Amino acid sequence: MTEHEHVRVAVVGSGFGGLGAAVRLRREGVTDFVVLERASSVGGTWRDNSYPGCACDVPSHLYSFSFAPNPDWPRAFSGQEHIRAYLEHVADTFGLRPHIRFDSEVKLMRWDTEKLHWEIETTGGNLTADLVVSATGPLSDPKIPDIPGLDTFPGKVFHSARWDHDHDLRGERVAMIGTGASAIQIVPAIQPEVSRLTLFQRTPPWVMPRMDRAISGAERALHRALPFTTRLRRGLLWGIRELQVQAFTKRPDELGLVERLAKANMARAIKDPALRAKLTPDYRIGCKRILLSNTYYPALAQPNVDVVTGGLTEVRGSTLVAADGTETEADVIVFGTGFHVTDMPIAERVVGAEGRTLAETWKDGMAALRGATATGFPNWMTIIGPNTGLGNSSMILMIESQLNYLADYVRQLDVLGGRAALDPRPAAVDAWNTKVQQRMERTVWNTGGCTSWYLDPQGRNTTIWPGTTADFRGATRRVDLAEYQVLRPPAAGAGTGTAQRAEAGA
Ligand SMILES: Cc1cc2nc3c(=O)[nH]c(=O)nc-3n(C[C@H](O)[C@H](O)[C@H](O)COP(=O)(O)OP(=O)(O)OC[C@H]3O[C@@H](n4cnc5c(N)ncnc54)[C@H](O)[C@@H]3O)c2cc1C
Repeated sequence: MTEHEHVRVAVVGSGFGGLGAAVRLRREGVTDFVVLERASSVGGTWRDNSYPGCACDVPSHLYSFSFAPNPDWPRAFSGQEHIRAYLEHVADTFGLRPHIRFDSEVKLMRWDTEKLHWEIETTGGNLTADLVVSATGPLSDPKIPDIPGLDTFPGKVFHSARWDHDHDLRGERVAMIGTGASAIQIVPAIQPEVSRLTLFQRTPPWVMPRMDRAISGAERALHRALPFTTRLRRGLLWGIRELQVQAFTKRPDELGLVERLAKANMARAIKDPALRAKLTPDYRIGCKRILLSNTYYPALAQPNVDVVTGGLTEVRGSTLVAADGTETEADVIVFGTGFHVTDMPIAERVVGAEGRTLAETWKDGMAALRGATATGFPNWMTIIGPNTGLGNSSMILMIESQLNYLADYVRQLDVLGGRAALDPRPAAVDAWNTKVQQRMERTVWNTGGCTSWYLDPQGRNTTIWPGTTADFRGATRRVDLAEYQVLRPPAAGAGTGTAQRAEAGA
């Protein structure tokens, strides 16, 4: 690569993770950084998902940065447009805009073993960086299953994360594929206006009531006048979820009571026993994400809605064929089929010290040290990396823990001085992942009898954190140099072409 602009840190992505990293770098006194974003605005998830009914399913006062509390959340679970506006506001408040390069999709990141930096190719120009923070998001690349005959469908096809707002669904026959977190928000939002809605369900979700309500003007005024009340509210929301997670991780058998509550929630809206049977999950609650809605079941009970079980297996023109043989005519197909989670596309574009991509390194399953760093990829860190996902609480808590780790990483590099890079020792990565997988054995995600996107093709859970968010915060407070090799540039004249490895922590 010819000479290019060099920065100390390149952050990839401008969702919660990338913007959070930018704020944290500034707090650490690092100003020599850029944020590379493939789109033309910030927001990540909350820019891309604008489907009808899109909202968070963790209360807004917890699903926001602790360092940027928002006293003005309009609802307990705020809608997409408010979360997106919040992230725009964060970018403005913390003066991040001058750092952000929009329309700059990272095509390739290659580690230079001599110069100890990353060469980065983007659609907006090339650059080099000492450290890369990859915040490309676990749920940012939509997945559409390979359905035979899909290309013969004459109507409109789109994914929930790429909603086509120019297409009017009024009076149309819509097929909704999938019953995940997005689908259960979309179904009640579009059911009243479409002529027919057919829901293709492979696995029914467990659905609990959603304790949503408008936040009153008085509450907001209180939060503005006395900021500690926002922190108090956040603390309570956090504490409840920290207690709940114990059942998921240690005592899945005790979740039977919660299943009874969920069944009662269904029974209130679904009077038809045959439909109730179709909608009743046969796995332990919590094994897949518990979904929250007060409107999903009532929408499914409406006369213009059909639930087809077994999933979509084939498309023949405008006829959709389900696994149980049912045939449905449709004008529009909406895929609510999730994202590339365990096969994240960015991994194909990161080439490490050995010349291998991260995707090749992770072909038998993702594995990182403390959810952040991978052997052979020095000075490369991912936000929301392997085993940092949550089943029941706010991802912002995990992101902020990873930002603590990033801050200490930068401090450690400062302490080491000169040109240096950190490469996690294979033994440290193994030890961390062995511990994570051991803790995973008892959890509801592994024992609950379901197949979920938490599991990779080998059946290993490489996405979820099997503990409390406080545990993770403790584990990521500091970078332990003993877990890393310190790389130094090759000695002048040595001509080996590879970095020297020094004993860290010595
Ligand atoms: C519909 C929906 C609802 C959700 N609700 C909740 C919730 O209620 N609670 C919760 O905790 N979590 C929720 N999540 C999970 C959510 O993804 C995380 O909470 C969080 O928003 C992730 O932030 P992020 O910055 O890591 O990723 P993202 O928000 O996905 O941002 C990643 C950014 O990276 C950019 N990018 C990707 N690849 C490249 C590239 N090669 N070059 C340059 N830029 C690139 C993308 O354009 C994007 O802007 C939800 C997810 C979805 C999809």
